[in-house]
Amino acid sequence: MIRFLSFLIAVFIVTTIYLSNTVQERQNVLRRVAQHNDTWAISQTVQEFMRLEATLALYNADTYDVTLDDVRLRLDIMISRMLTMREGTIKLFMGEMPTRERTMNTLFAVVTDLDTSLNGSETPDLAPILARMHELERPLTTLSAQSVQLSWARVEKNLVALERIHRISGIVVTILIMCWCGLLLILQNHNRLLKLAHKRGKILNNSLNEAGEELRNKNRSLHYAAHHDSLTALPNRVLFWGELETALQTPDCSVSLLLLDLDEFKTINDTMGHDFGDVLLHQVSERMRRFDVKPQMFCRLGGDEFACLLLGKTAEDSQAYAHDLAIDIAAPYQLSDRRVEIGCSIGLVNVPTPSVDDAQELFKRADIALYRAKASRSDRICVFEPFMQGEFDDRTLLESDLRKAIGQGEIEVAYQVQVCVRTDELRGIEALARWNHPTRGHISPNIFIPIAEDIGLIRELGQHILTKACAEAVTWATPLKIAVNLSTMQMQSPEFISVVSEAIRVTGLKPNRLELEVTESMLLDKREDIVIALNDLRRFGITIALDDFGTGYSSLAVLRDIPFDTIKLDKSFIRDIGHDKEAEALVKLVIDLGQTMNKFIIIEGVETVEQKEIIRKLGGHIAQGYLFGHPVPATELAHLR
Ligand code: C2E
Ligand code: CA
Ligand code: CA
Repeated sequence: MIRFLSFLIAVFIVTTIYLSNTVQERQNVLRRVAQHNDTWAISQTVQEFMRLEATLALYNADTYDVTLDDVRLRLDIMISRMLTMREGTIKLFMGEMPTRERTMNTLFAVVTDLDTSLNGSETPDLAPILARMHELERPLTTLSAQSVQLSWARVEKNLVALERIHRISGIVVTILIMCWCGLLLILQNHNRLLKLAHKRGKILNNSLNEAGEELRNKNRSLHYAAHHDSLTALPNRVLFWGELETALQTPDCSVSLLLLDLDEFKTINDTMGHDFGDVLLHQVSERMRRFDVKPQMFCRLGGDEFACLLLGKTAEDSQAYAHDLAIDIAAPYQLSDRRVEIGCSIGLVNVPTPSVDDAQELFKRADIALYRAKASRSDRICVFEPFMQGEFDDRTLLESDLRKAIGQGEIEVAYQVQVCVRTDELRGIEALARWNHPTRGHISPNIFIPIAEDIGLIRELGQHILTKACAEAVTWATPLKIAVNLSTMQMQSPEFISVVSEAIRVTGLKPNRLELEVTESMLLDKREDIVIALNDLRRFGITIALDDFGTGYSSLAVLRDIPFDTIKLDKSFIRDIGHDKEAEALVKLVIDLGQTMNKFIIIEGVETVEQKEIIRKLGGHIAQGYLFGHPVPATELAHLR
């Protein structure tokens, strides 16, 4: 198409140039045609000459009524005619042939002489001039004829040229018309294509608009998904941080941050299934959404952790709000045919002038408060106070020290005897973890064992103590039982069985000398798995003791379902025997239960001879306590080897 257009344009240019040339040429031809005037002028001059001659002859004959003035008139006309003969193209025509030149000169001479004669005397002799004029008639007639002839020849030639020009012009014009037609066709085609393109463009535009809208919708839903929790549809962590940072930048507006954690949600999740847990989380979030006093924002941070952001509230108002919220959440939930109750712990922090705190810092404080709220058994709502930060920092330091101590094998094992109250013979020895901190001194296992669980090092620590205790027991001369405490996380480890069997293999301890102590709280989660593991261990010959019996959530079902060999009655029951009959009755009950169920009963915390005697009287056999010996390091067990 472009080639064709270029060709048309080239043709246009060429034809236009050619046409302008043709017009120019036509102008020239026409100009040449105009030279017929010369022929007319020459013949007029000849005719005028003839008239002058005739007038002169009549004047000379004097018979007619011709005056000198008539002659002069004719002469003047003749002279004026003659003057034109000496100009322009006529002059050129005259100069073409010597005869013409001569005739012309003769004519000029005759006319000049006549003029002189007429001006010279009253009666000029005109006969000689008439004779000379007569002689001139012929050459002048020839001249006129030649002029006519030449003129006709030129006319003929110019006509041919004009015809040619007209013919060519016709062809050029035809070409031009054809070009125009071609151009018109192209334009029409272009128009059609343009209309088509316009139509397609419109369709494309529409589909682009639709795609754009779809993209915008997708973007919106992606944005929503990126900022909301899919289970509860509450804002998620990302949106929460954004809102918290914005809130902290708002001048003169106090910010309260509440961190919520559901109590025992994990247990519900583990015992009733994750789907059930999900439905519960959803219902809890619905309660938050519907909670009367609308907060700035509720969001789910993950798992069973939620956050609530309040703006413009005083510390007291925020605390009251947290209290009401906790009550609202704690109300029973009806999940299909089950009624569930779940409480929550709340950590609260309030900053009246938020600009001084950054979001991370605020969150950390609320987290510290939540940590305390969870640790406290009585108060589920904890408001952050500056001293807590110190405690938290202290704990962080302790964590890092413990990490180091476990890594370097600095946790020691102390041994406490278990004695038969009837024969005073040793029944076994319990291994108890000991940490002697370089600056803080002795730290209770009640403190560092939970920290080791929190920082995920309990398995490593448990393995260390188990191996150390087994290795110690192997050195004893009598095959006493060695009791080792276990923590929940240790038992939940998939490698637990292999860790125990490895300790036995490495140390060479007979499995029936090992007693593993578990607490009731361990049996809340994944009970089936734990029962399987305990049975595996018992098949191995290892015995299992239920530690701290009576302090947990024991039900008789625990005693029925869990495969124990020994029940260790918690020391809190012994404290009051001797002066509290009910306490004694309880101890008796457990001793009888053991006998009935064919289990060993170990009474813990025996500190006095009186307590020992009462236990003996109540039918008890084995006891453990300061009366028989404090936990001692391995070095003090030399007598056993
Ligand atoms: P537990 O298993 O009940 O251990 C007995 C605790 O009672 C020991 O405290 C012991 O020193 C103390 N005790 C013994 N006789 C008496 C007494 O007559 N009167 C009083 N008032 N207390 C007595 P300890 O060593 O501070 O251990 C505390 C708890 O830490 C242990 O309680 C046990 O639950 C845990 N624990 C200790 N070592 C380990 C360990 O290696 N692993 C695990 N998972 N937990 C351990
Ligand atoms: Ca124990
Ligand atoms: Ca105990």
